[in-house]
Amino acid sequence: MIPMVDLKLQYQQLQSDIDAALADVLDSTAFILGPNVRAFEAEAAEYLGTQFAIGCASGTDALHLALLAAGIGPGDEVITSAFTFIATAEAIAYVGATPVFVDIDERTMNLDLDAVATAISDNTAAILPVHLFGQPVDMGQLSALAEKHDLTIVEDCAQSFGADISGQQTGSFGLAGCFSFFPSKNLGCYGDGGLITTNSESVRDHLLSLRNHGSSKRYHHQEIGYNSRLDEIQAAILRVKLRHIDRFNQERRRVAHRYNELLADTGITTPFEDGIGTHVFHQYTLRSPQRDAIMAALSQREIACAIYYPVPLHRQEVFAEVCRDHSLPVTEAIASDCFSLPIFPEMTDQQIVEVTDTIKQALNG
Ligand SMILES: *Cc1c(COP(=O)(O)O)cnc(C)c1O
Repeated sequence: MIPMVDLKLQYQQLQSDIDAALADVLDSTAFILGPNVRAFEAEAAEYLGTQFAIGCASGTDALHLALLAAGIGPGDEVITSAFTFIATAEAIAYVGATPVFVDIDERTMNLDLDAVATAISDNTAAILPVHLFGQPVDMGQLSALAEKHDLTIVEDCAQSFGADISGQQTGSFGLAGCFSFFPSKNLGCYGDGGLITTNSESVRDHLLSLRNHGSSKRYHHQEIGYNSRLDEIQAAILRVKLRHIDRFNQERRRVAHRYNELLADTGITTPFEDGIGTHVFHQYTLRSPQRDAIMAALSQREIACAIYYPVPLHRQEVFAEVCRDHSLPVTEAIASDCFSLPIFPEMTDQQIVEVTDTIKQALNG
């Protein structure tokens, strides 16, 4: 049995530190907005190279609150990818704006920046790039485009914690960066959690209010806000794991490169690294016309595999109205033949070979 990600093994490796951190929180009984959240926010900001980092309840909330703090609302268009998790576009809808889905690059599966440029209209207010599967979008080029048209960038970094471009971390390029600590993310907690980074003091102040019922002074409310806090238990776990994130990401890269080596000459399209930034391989995603046969063979051997994402967002029922007659050929082609293999820092060479041997047998059989 090989899972997509082995959270148990990672817990066992970090058990003494995590158990001690949890015991401290339980002993303190400070469960909401206490010392661990403050410390984690400072440590994450330091790691990510931003002035501020604000914890919140999930990656979805991070996107929602960041768009609100960026002043995006009804009448605004936000350009994004359709080849992502639904939360990216949900957040745009929450603030009353309209998602404008553009096609992706065939090799990186990230936003096609030429398509972004073409989609800019008088109503465009923001661009929401997703650093998909852990590979940074070319933020140099995207930032230049945004600047030229006076557009805000909010980054979806839910899959890219620790990915950088020439030493600069994803989440530090736009007005805000949005992170998820869902358990299976490359930096994951033991429940839901999220984080927003920014270098803007006014955005930081607005986010602190939004996540806490629109209040910056206790029982005084300037606006309708939300209950969206990262809790102390999750922050304490994240502080332990943050110390290991570089090693985790390096190990993911080891697994990915070993897969590449073993799958060369099989006709399968292995992930393309454009070399602009460092890919941290939140997912290892391939393409093959024989996807169904491969996935059947893997599940036969109790090896997990998954399709991220089988139905692109412009083809989702919920966006049928917004996306009538909308065609995104590259996105659709990739959704029809992509699949992702197990990848986690603790994966052994024996496990990697078992996966690739099973795939090769499926292709030859
Ligand atoms: C996981 C994910 C989210 C949402 O994060 P949650 O913490 O689950 O709310 C948003 N965008 C992308 C690209 C994701 O992978």
